[in-house]
Amino acid sequence: MTMKTEAARGAVTYSRMRGAVAILIAFVKQRRMGLNDFIQKIANNSYACTHPEVQFILKISQPQEPELMNANPSPPPSPSQQINLGPSSNPHAKPSEFHFLKVIGKGSFGKVLLARHKAEEAFYAVKVLQKKAILKKKEEKHIMSERNVLLKNVKHPFLVWLHHSFQTADKLYFVLDYINGGELFYHLQRECCFLEPWARFYAAEIASALGYLRSLNIVYRDLKPQNILLDSQGHIVLTDFRLCKENIEHNGTTSTFCGTPECLAPECFIRDAVRPASLLYITNSARHLLEGLLQKDRTKRLGANDDFTEIKSHKITPPFNPNVSGPSDLRHFDPKFIEEPVPSSIGRSPDSILITARVKEAAEAFFGFSYAPPMDSFHGQS
Ligand code: ATP
Ligand code: MG
Repeated sequence: MTMKTEAARGAVTYSRMRGAVAILIAFVKQRRMGLNDFIQKIANNSYACTHPEVQFILKISQPQEPELMNANPSPPPSPSQQINLGPSSNPHAKPSEFHFLKVIGKGSFGKVLLARHKAEEAFYAVKVLQKKAILKKKEEKHIMSERNVLLKNVKHPFLVWLHHSFQTADKLYFVLDYINGGELFYHLQRECCFLEPWARFYAAEIASALGYLRSLNIVYRDLKPQNILLDSQGHIVLTDFRLCKENIEHNGTTSTFCGTPECLAPECFIRDAVRPASLLYITNSARHLLEGLLQKDRTKRLGANDDFTEIKSHKITPPFNPNVSGPSDLRHFDPKFIEEPVPSSIGRSPDSILITARVKEAAEAFFGFSYAPPMDSFHGQS
């Protein structure tokens, strides 16, 4: 009996093997992330990058991404790739102007990447969308609406800023402010729930951003914690204008059922009243505010008469500081994105030989997409 137990103790069972493999994988993953961080820090240091040995290390550390190190600049577009981009085009912008460093987010049609503009040495979040995927879902109207909304020169401290946009034959590129305090979703998950002073602060800033859009007759229709980012100081920045609806007059409504199921507007619910007071322990003033905002009947809802001025509040110090040390501090992004290799195709225009009829068709559907802002509208980098 004892011998059997001893033998069993020493035996390499299947579950022990699995446990050991899991530990080994976790160890390798951790080391790889450590090495990645180290390489990122070196790559972001312009002085270190001039050193030949550093350049050599960076080249061999990312052999699958030659264009990141500028070894393979984008080929110039062939006549068949040339698209008339209209008056707002930025004909000089191309993917090879950027070092695409990390995947920091994923959306329905593509990825959002942290990128460094080689000449400007500035960091941006570049949203890269696949034209083919958009066409397949017949979503080009929404994508153009995102671009139109950003193009309207929406300028507000709590709305993401579009620097410029451009396209290759198969992809659209939005060059946005890089916001690295993390998604509100991420912080909400970490905290479980926000205490009232935090909730009050975020609600006020979100309302301010929505109120501003409303003043431009734009309705934001995908409000959810994944689309609300925190900047490096903890202020909110609304991103993702894909489902925005333009030209909605003050009392106008939209009838499209869209957005995200968990975050529907009160009038979309079948049940009559949404009673926040029965769900939360909260102060009276917060209860009144929530009850006002969650009114199923739009005419009785807080803001129905004077829109945002009814809800307005002042910008105050954020209750939470994400404490990021700089652009390369990625601690608030989901590790599952950060660990993902940057696809090599993102940094270059496709070879003219590889342009298929479908790619051409996709290219033409986004005629006029590119955007260069007027010279006086540049924001400072945060
Ligand atoms: P979906 O339709 O699934 O909501 P999407 O295709 O509209 O996604 P976005 O929501 O714009 O894409 O971006 C996806 C994610 O990328 C965001 O939830 C956010 O985490 C990250 N992200 C987007 N813009 C930025 C930015 N400017 N800075 C930092 N991260 C960003
Ligand atoms: Mg989104």
